[in-house]
Amino acid sequence: MDFSLTPDQQMFRDSVAAFARRELSEGALERAHAAQFPHDIARKMSDAGLMGITLPEADGGGGGTLMDAVIAIEEIARFCPRSADVIQEGNFGAIRVLARFATEDQKKRYLAPLLRGEEVIAVGMTEPDAGSATTDLKTTATPDGAGFRINGSKVFPNPHADQYLVYVRYGPGVEGIGSVMLRRSAPGFSIGKVSKFMSGNEWAPIFFDNVYVPPEDVLLPAGGFKKQIQGFNAERIGNAARSLAYGRYCFDLARQYALERKQFGRPLCEFQGLQWKFADMKVKLDAAQLLLYRAATNADRGFPAADETTIAKLMCNQAGFDIANESMQVMGGLGYTQDTLVDYCLRRSRGWMIAGGSIEMMKNRLAEIIFERRFSQRPPRPSKQETHA
Ligand SMILES: Cc1cc2nc3c(=O)[nH]c(=O)nc-3n(C[C@H](O)[C@H](O)[C@H](O)COP(=O)(O)OP(=O)(O)OC[C@H]3O[C@@H](n4cnc5c(N)ncnc54)[C@H](O)[C@@H]3O)c2cc1C
Repeated sequence: MDFSLTPDQQMFRDSVAAFARRELSEGALERAHAAQFPHDIARKMSDAGLMGITLPEADGGGGGTLMDAVIAIEEIARFCPRSADVIQEGNFGAIRVLARFATEDQKKRYLAPLLRGEEVIAVGMTEPDAGSATTDLKTTATPDGAGFRINGSKVFPNPHADQYLVYVRYGPGVEGIGSVMLRRSAPGFSIGKVSKFMSGNEWAPIFFDNVYVPPEDVLLPAGGFKKQIQGFNAERIGNAARSLAYGRYCFDLARQYALERKQFGRPLCEFQGLQWKFADMKVKLDAAQLLLYRAATNADRGFPAADETTIAKLMCNQAGFDIANESMQVMGGLGYTQDTLVDYCLRRSRGWMIAGGSIEMMKNRLAEIIFERRFSQRPPRPSKQETHA
């Protein structure tokens, strides 16, 4: 067992840091406050080989590991927290599910423009009545000739994406769930009122009114739900990595501030009340990083294990938020302004405690792993006696 990065990983880390310092440090504040996805950065990252790091070279990826992609998030976020979203989009979650299950033709039409940084993909999973209870989704895919007609709606996705990976129901039960690929230009596809999350990022409901999906745009047929959720474990690693990276960004800023800012004729770092905050933050940073690295390293190029991902996400989500919050306190009134990125990191990391599997759902999952049994969250079925009464 070795707790250090390998020489190759160190080289990769240094090259990503050099890219981020050169291309991203300028304009980081403006980028964070812009509602739109930074498309210009996506193209630069594509040129720098930072999109599809984990995907096979045959598919236009870098042939690297999930750990490489985590390193990329960490280094990019150190210089520009917002740009870490591009690494997320280009390496974790939907793009990996697409790359893993797409046909060669789908890879050309959907994956290739993502890897070139020309298009953005979003996931349409959550519905008005199916949030944590994802499998309650009602959006239907009804056979029509060789293809399907999609009817239903989703909430919370990015309204500016070019393509959507949409969870649909081909039939009843979990086994009836699969997914299709849709473009925003598809007839019958519409986007509702655009709203903002607390982070400033935009979302909108999307509606499918008899949208036709040809057979070549079916990603996973009925029975595909479990495969998609496996892919979601990779998304969760990216989610965890960004939470932690944002915590570290705030920690570094607060540390520098505590060294320079003087009150009562002494630098803040000399006050024990603040020293203890930094000690607590450092413990959280290191503990969360070890759990994150374990999940990412053990996954290698496949999908990470459910238990390690769950633990990493829980720890990183909480650590990222707590550290951003404490860093804000250390920086006093300045920390609470929008002139540093501490408030941005705090608002963003708060969202990841809900998105990608909420803290509560992660704990439910962990309890099942601990006790090696399933705990249904649904109300108990009425017994035969009750039904006959
Ligand atoms: C920043 C952000 C980005 C998002 N992006 C997308 C996206 O791109 N695409 C998409 O499809 N969705 C997206 N979502 C939606 C996200 O997946 C859902 O918000 C999440 O699954 C929770 O569903 P919900 O909001 O309906 O809450 P609910 O499921 O209604 O839950 C409400 C609260 O109850 C808790 N709860 C629910 N069930 C249980 C239980 N059994 N035990 C204990 N507690 C429980 C939850 O943890 C939560 O705290 C995004 C959300 C956020 C915040």
